[in-house]
Amino acid sequence: MRFLLPLFLLAATLFAQKKTVFLITDAEGVGGVCRQDQTDPKDNELRQLLTGEINAAVDGFLAGGADEVVVWDGHDGSQTLSTLTIHPKAKLVMGGLGASMLMERKWSAVAYLGQHAKANAKGGIMAHSYSSLGIQVMKLNGKPVGEIDVIAAMAGHFGIPTIFLSGDKAAADELHEIVPDAELAVVKEGLARYVCISLSAPAARDLIRDGARRSMALIGKVKPHRVQSPTTLEIEFTTRNTLGLDAESRPSAEIVDSQTIRFKGKDILEVWQRYRAR
Ligand SMILES: [Zn+2]
Repeated sequence: MRFLLPLFLLAATLFAQKKTVFLITDAEGVGGVCRQDQTDPKDNELRQLLTGEINAAVDGFLAGGADEVVVWDGHDGSQTLSTLTIHPKAKLVMGGLGASMLMERKWSAVAYLGQHAKANAKGGIMAHSYSSLGIQVMKLNGKPVGEIDVIAAMAGHFGIPTIFLSGDKAAADELHEIVPDAELAVVKEGLARYVCISLSAPAARDLIRDGARRSMALIGKVKPHRVQSPTTLEIEFTTRNTLGLDAESRPSAEIVDSQTIRFKGKDILEVWQRYRAR
């Protein structure tokens, strides 16, 4: 009989799923970043501010019970972060993710760091949806969206919950609209596109570390964010970026006007694959 408890504990440890957090990073939502010139991936100050926030988040996730944190260098061509300075216990994903955003790896949770709000968001510092020069508006099932909605929906498609976001106030509000229980670290507030009130770097890191730690308790409690299927994705490009001659021949594409194309698919993954296929 007395062997049963240790056996049970051993089995529980063996079958307990390893908790891995996938941390998606960007630049425009980092504390202390408020001007376009600061978002250059080679900018030394950006690299320090961003890396400092990431490493604070990694510390927080680990303190909250994560076994592993995988960080994606998501800003502008994945050329901002370095394994020389990333948290020693984190892993770094360098390069583009593809349409599924690596969600088929079934992370335990997805989190955002340095996240900005969608295009046209009021009070959003450098707000944009994937491309400030290329895209005017992006709509998912008719709703204007940016990276926050699309990533949460892709994670949700694979059954993964979204648990944490750090960024400006507008980005935090945007995530709370779809995931009301997510933990947030608001590191700055936008007064206008290029005007902000920011926390100091040490204060931002403390806030992020705390929020990330608390967010680990949401795994298993917060529901993955799922969007309706079939799914439509509409992209209105900027005036400098009109549709090409072959736009109509793209699979399941409908031309709305000279700037706008609409894709239909059975779910978020298919519609995103169709949009990204060139
Ligand atoms: Zn972005």
